[in-house]
Amino acid sequence: MLTIGNKRPTWAEINLDNLAFNIASIRRFIGTEIECLAVIKADAYGHGACQSAKRLEEEGVEWFGVAILEEALELREYGISRPILCIGGAWNGQEESFIESKITPVIYRHEHAERFNRAAENKNVKVKVHIKIDTGMGRIGVRFNEFRSFFKVIKELPNIEIEGLMTHFAAADDLQQYDFTALQMQRFAEIEDYVESEGIFPRYRDLANSPGAIAYKSARHNLVRLGGIIYGLGGDVLPRNIEKPAIKPVLSLHTRIANLKIVPQGETLGYSRTFQTARNSLIATVPIGYHDGYPRALSNIGRVIIRNQLAPVVGRISMDWTIIDVTDIAGVEVNDEVKLIGSGGDLEITAEELAALSGTISYEITCGINRRVWRKYVDG
Ligand SMILES: *Cc1c(COP(=O)(O)O)cnc(C)c1O
Repeated sequence: MLTIGNKRPTWAEINLDNLAFNIASIRRFIGTEIECLAVIKADAYGHGACQSAKRLEEEGVEWFGVAILEEALELREYGISRPILCIGGAWNGQEESFIESKITPVIYRHEHAERFNRAAENKNVKVKVHIKIDTGMGRIGVRFNEFRSFFKVIKELPNIEIEGLMTHFAAADDLQQYDFTALQMQRFAEIEDYVESEGIFPRYRDLANSPGAIAYKSARHNLVRLGGIIYGLGGDVLPRNIEKPAIKPVLSLHTRIANLKIVPQGETLGYSRTFQTARNSLIATVPIGYHDGYPRALSNIGRVIIRNQLAPVVGRISMDWTIIDVTDIAGVEVNDEVKLIGSGGDLEITAEELAALSGTISYEITCGINRRVWRKYVDG
């Protein structure tokens, strides 16, 4: 069994205290009377679903949200007991597992509801479901204009209890598109009115993701579904110039110098020889590559922190290795720590910055750090 001391020295540090700080800060900001569903799909956006959920549960988060049943079961096996909403819905044949592990499905097709109804009837239980309404995202959900015919069927199923109504914003991160967000809210409100006029009063009504919950008071209702901001990824998903809670990054990404060499002026480095040394150079190689989630798009433009100084990525990033020019880092040695996301001295490199440089969003950066990179949890 490998210990931390003899694993490849490439790791992500997950600061669970910062996670706790973020959730407390966000809840103060949006109002502690509003329940909070922490979205921990995709291994908590790369932060480790089980460990993150455990800490968030201790901090009082009421609900968890995952994309698929397998993610929910992993949490249950780890001992997470709070309600889990499977926001990606259920696939045929999973109904019994949902019911046995008390995972709440999101429903958006008749067939789903009918299958759950039958499974619940066989077990002589009622199953709670949340209905997903598509008010303009155009992804999953019953289209708002087709809701009534859908609802007429669902409402008659004796072993189904409609516990929630939900929708998802398409552009809550962009204040310029407020009109569309408002239209989505209006469509949702009309559906709420209709459902109530039919004598059904679902306990949960939720619309807001991170940007929706921070930017729009009127979108909070009684439950918000928060992902990115609880991990401190606010920079590129929250609208600029709005009031927002203080949040701290939770993840930092580290490795160590594996090889150090003097390379004379005029030589080329890496695949396709995209970099040529302009001077006699000191070149470091670090054991992290695009398979680990350090994007290949950062070839020749990324920067890392070594000894509290910035050093540029040179040449192509390959699957397992990245080359760094450390000529200007005084005293640099093999085994020195290299920070790819994180801070050192006055310097900070954020997931948002790597995302901007590689043409994506911070979520894709942290989600992309795969399980080959071990996680070190800082807690308490
Ligand atoms: C992923 C997801 C969220 C969380 O979005 P963030 O921007 O990370 O807060 C909320 N709701 C649904 C339906 C999602 O798929």
